[in-house]
Formats: sequence, C-alpha cells, structure tokens
Amino acid sequence: MNNTEHQERVAAVLPKFAPLARPMYKIKSEPRAETPDCPSEDLKVSKFGGIPFMPRADWPKCAHCSQPLELLVQLDLSKIPRKTLPEDMPETGLLQLFFCPNTDAECVCDMDEDKWTVGRYISAEELTREPVFREMPESEVDHIPCHAITGFEETTEYPMPEECEEHLDELEEEVTPDEIMLVCDCAASESDKLGGWPCWLDEIIYPECPVCGSEMPHLMTVGSEEGLEWAFSDGGCGRIFVCPHHLEATTLSFDS
Ligand SMILES: [Zn+2]
Ligand SMILES: [Zn+2]
Repeated sequence: MNNTEHQERVAAVLPKFAPLARPMYKIKSEPRAETPDCPSEDLKVSKFGGIPFMPRADWPKCAHCSQPLELLVQLDLSKIPRKTLPEDMPETGLLQLFFCPNTDAECVCDMDEDKWTVGRYISAEELTREPVFREMPESEVDHIPCHAITGFEETTEYPMPEECEEHLDELEEEVTPDEIMLVCDCAASESDKLGGWPCWLDEIIYPECPVCGSEMPHLMTVGSEEGLEWAFSDGGCGRIFVCPHHLEATTLSFDS
C-alpha cells in the first residue's frame, strides 16, 4: 500500500471514531530573554522555564535534593484557549508547575513519591501584588531558560489504540482492530500541546487528586527539548494532569 492509499484509508475510518475526536492546540513558543529589571508584567506571561511570577516568599524546594525547583510551565488562564480545559477551571490567574531537573541527584527517580514537582495557583488578586523574587534563586542545578508561549494552532486528536479500546462503547459503529490501528496516525502527539489525548508508552494511569480523590484529566503535554529546554529520560514527553478544583495538585508523569 502506498502512502496516499494509506492516508485515504485513515480518512475513511476517522468518521467512525468521531465521538472520540478531541480538540488539541499545538503550542508555539520562542526563546525570551528575562532580566531582574524587566517589568513585572513580563514575568506573568504563559511560558516554559524562566522566572516565574512569584508573589509569595516561599520558593518551592525539591524534597529530594533540596535545590530550588525550576519553573516547568506557567499558564495565564485568562489567555489560553478554553475549549480543551476541564470544566470548572478558573478563568483568571496563573497555573504554575515547578519541577526538579537535577539529573545528578536523580530526583526524577523519586517520581512515585511525587517529591519533585509542585503545583501553584496564583489568583487574580495575587497577580496585582509585586513579585517577591525577580530572579531565580541560586542553585547547583542549571536554570531552565524561558521560552514564551506565543500562540496555539488548533487541530483534532484521537486516542492511542490501547486507550481507544477502553472507549469502544462510546462509538456508534463496530470497529475492527485494523481500523483502530489506522487511527494511530492521528493519535496523541508527544509534542507541546494543550488538550487532546495523552501519549502513553506504558500503562494508562490517570492520577487521582490527593485532595478530593477524583481522577485528574490531562491538561497538556510537554515534549522533550521543545519549549522546555530539558529532556525527559526516554526523550519522550511529560503529561500534565490537573484537578480544576485543586490546582495546587497539578502533577506530571512520563514513561521512564
Ligand atoms: Zn531534586
Ligand atoms: Zn481535587
């Protein structure tokens, strides 16, 4: 089968999977210089890495190696597309996820203990304050440079075959295993994105919110060495999950 025939077959089966189609936004970003004397507004933008907007005096530290955590991603909830966000997500404020990129201390290996990431929610009221920190604290770990998020490009995504199998009862027509494999072509990208379906190489595990116990939906995916100048251990992607009622429980998983 040549490539055109393959693409025609994919296009022909997609309508059967329409109930599983989800909007997804590819995230565009570019390097952005930040300095301690830049306007506070510049620190509040959506970005990967760089200096977080920090109106509180307590900079989160890694419970494993004690180094200050680095900003993984910061999202201005008033300026990102809402279509893919879980219902009940606040419409203002900043969602921040911090992590420990210290590969020497292998903090990532403590992932199960959930010690190496911290979620923060900066409310609209806190956004009116002056930042307590205007530069990154001293650290033994190299800082992650800032890539500002500059745009979103909407597309549609389908689940990977294993996850597709779990949702077959939502489809209106019977599908064959071959058809499920064809949808793989339009499934779960590993690149920087908001919404869509998560990419799983191992088990499908949606974390539970430690506060309310509900299953946390996928918020976004962060690729290796894309907007975030850092690579997950297998060069794959990090999946970020969020509880819309407990944003500080925001967490990340990846396949190691
Ligand atoms: Zn650490
Ligand atoms: Zn919760």
